Amino acid sequence: MTNKPEISLEFFPPKTEQGVANLNDARSELDALAPSFYSVTFGAGGSTREGTYDAVKSIIDAGGDAAPHISCIGASKKSIRELLEGYSAIGVKRLVALRGDRPSGMVELGDFAYANELVEFIRAEMGDRFLIEVAAYPEYHPESSDPATDLANFKRKVDAGAHSAITQYFFNADAYFALVDSAMLANIEVPIVPGIMPITNFVQLARFSDMCGAEIPRWLRSRLEQYQHDADSLQDFGAEVITTLCDCLLEGGAPGIHFYTLNKASPTIEICKRLELI
Ligand SMILES: Cc1cc2nc3c(=O)[nH]c(=O)nc-3n(C[C@H](O)[C@H](O)[C@H](O)COP(=O)(O)OP(=O)(O)OC[C@H]3O[C@@H](n4cnc5c(N)ncnc54)[C@H](O)[C@@H]3O)c2cc1C
Repeated sequence: MTNKPEISLEFFPPKTEQGVANLNDARSELDALAPSFYSVTFGAGGSTREGTYDAVKSIIDAGGDAAPHISCIGASKKSIRELLEGYSAIGVKRLVALRGDRPSGMVELGDFAYANELVEFIRAEMGDRFLIEVAAYPEYHPESSDPATDLANFKRKVDAGAHSAITQYFFNADAYFALVDSAMLANIEVPIVPGIMPITNFVQLARFSDMCGAEIPRWLRSRLEQYQHDADSLQDFGAEVITTLCDCLLEGGAPGIHFYTLNKASPTIEICKRLELI
């Protein structure tokens, strides 16, 4: 590794006062990694609109760089315009622009069908005011029929004006390298930053992975099942697996790493220590 890779860290907006306090503590610890930005997720259908805004504002107030996620499913152009203006007013310079998943029971279609339309809207309304991150899928998006279609849809977001991409998490480095190679062949020239999920809880990881289509390889699943009632061994093994994955990605040219921290500092810090990034 010649240059220090860029690290970015993802949080979700806490729902309780205790959650806010815990997140502030986690962020103070994670500042040691000097992340290029912290991103904050947006609940499906706008359910965390205020929570996302509050978390973003508190990061900016503490001197950090914060990137709110914006999901457009079910949203009107008017509501997205208000959101963008609100974020611009508090100094946000980067966004993660997503379609999002329709919450069950939601019937309102909204003004946007896909994330490329959101990216196009942000660029038309705000010009270059924001750097725009979009999502990419090494194991392709669960709604896509095949990788080529998913790649073409990823390209639509880049052609609409996205500056960079963050991937869904994955455990198979080859899936990431295959995405990067096919993006290059399709003239997609933005950085594709691997999204990495530290392993801390087998049941939660299995549930998330079923929902988002991330494959847990059989060898990994059976080792995690074996350790699922032994938190210390599971975390140590998880840190070893993820450190090896990150090492391989960085050695193979990944421009940085985006950690899905789940609002916890220690698993990400442990991996970064093992990678000698701290
Ligand atoms: C880094 C990252 C952060 C995320 N953060 C959040 C978050 O904060 N909140 C949240 O709710 N979800 C979040 N998600 C999950 C994401 O919202 C879901 O994966 C969602 O199903 C797709 O969002 P997208 O922006 O990738 O959608 P899109 O890029 O719109 O793709 C959705 C599906 O439609 C297809 N498609 C795209 N464009 C077109 C088109 N023009 N015509 C036909 N088909 C098309 C794609 O191939 C794909 O199958 C995140 C995912 C990632 C990877």
